[in-house]
Amino acid sequence: MTVEFICVGTEILLGSIVNTNAAYLSEKCAGLGLSCYFQTVVGDNEDRLAQVLETGMERSDIVILSGGLGPTEDDLTKEVAAKICGKELQLHQPSKKAIEKFFSDRGMEPTDNNWKQAMLPKDGIVLENPNGTAPGVIMETEKACLILLPGPPNELRPMFEESVVPYLEKLTSQVICSKTVKICGVGESKAETMVKDLIDAQENPTIATYAKTGEVHIRVTANAEDKKAAMKLIKPVVKELKNRFGNAVYSTEEECTLEKAAADLLVANDLTVTCAESCTGGLLSARLVNVPGISDVYKMGVVTYSNKAKRRLLGVKKSTLQKYGAVSVQTAEEMAKGAAGLFKADVAVAVTGIAGPDGGTEEKPVGLVYVACYVKGKAVVKEYHFAGNRDKVRESTVAAALVLLRECILEYYSAITFGK
Ligand code: ATP
Repeated sequence: MTVEFICVGTEILLGSIVNTNAAYLSEKCAGLGLSCYFQTVVGDNEDRLAQVLETGMERSDIVILSGGLGPTEDDLTKEVAAKICGKELQLHQPSKKAIEKFFSDRGMEPTDNNWKQAMLPKDGIVLENPNGTAPGVIMETEKACLILLPGPPNELRPMFEESVVPYLEKLTSQVICSKTVKICGVGESKAETMVKDLIDAQENPTIATYAKTGEVHIRVTANAEDKKAAMKLIKPVVKELKNRFGNAVYSTEEECTLEKAAADLLVANDLTVTCAESCTGGLLSARLVNVPGISDVYKMGVVTYSNKAKRRLLGVKKSTLQKYGAVSVQTAEEMAKGAAGLFKADVAVAVTGIAGPDGGTEEKPVGLVYVACYVKGKAVVKEYHFAGNRDKVRESTVAAALVLLRECILEYYSAITFGK
């Protein structure tokens, strides 16, 4: 089945707000196994909205609209959709009651135009909105199925999860399940090459790769008559992906993040950890502290931005800084060792790099980063060349540090197991 999105709002066209609804809906619908070939943004204009809606209904099975369900005159989505489908709007009593309650719960009075939001197309399937006043609505027509959702993401997302997903599953009379194989330390093009044969041969399940900073996610999606049958189709593909990527697979759990995978390894092996950060200025510690329960192993860390701080706090040698510079293998290694000693940690991760936009030279360009990871007496240092602006370089550095941290712990324990 095909789906397309129409996001309504002049403020999206003008660039005043970023169209995060389109990104969200695309990802969710792909996860449900629906094919999306078109997305449109249209302003709050009746004729142009009617035009794109008619086009969408000609070429897609499902058209999802976001925005324009509000109480004001320029909120036109429902009116235009109802007109195109030949449905009249009528007062929907439960929605009127929900709007009354929404206001009274907040000690507020609705204004007259709020009742406009309770006027819904005849025969439409009404979607409750516990987070706002605009109900959503599904209109089934011979040409296509229209799904109208409110614009605010905090209203659209829960409505999609709670009401639209079960509807779409029923519509396709299939259950759609997916599993994401999360990989780190392998670039997107390499990952894609490694699964090209699977992608080329895909039918059910389908396989799609998504690049994230420092990670690649491979989503395997199957549809079948029930969840058990779908999972049965997914399982061998996930197994094959695990075989191909080995230790680079850090999780297949929806909620697991890269920092959680690293933190779980630390906690499971009872390894205390610290971070000594230069160009990331605390971002690495912040990512680790995202993980509940990290306090068992993470006690303290340090930002040592200047050379003086690197020397004074971490004991980086003056001669190292003079001979090799602050952004060097040697400095990174001494930072990690110094932090492990200072904080009496089993594991220490240190980062030093040139985030830009200034400070780069021909020999040491912007984006050059060294990450050192020390695990119980042994330090590994890696050099990276990241592209992008200051934020992107820092974000990539944090991801690389988490990947290296995970790799070093795995390596340490496999070395023990194999008696290296
Ligand atoms: P309301 O009942 O709040 O008026 P609505 O359904 O009419 O909701 P809009 O008026 O189109 O929605 O948008 C309300 C707000 O929702 C926008 O100001 C914006 O903050 C957010 N929003 C709308 N569309 C999008 C979008 N495509 N992506 C992200 N945010 C959006």
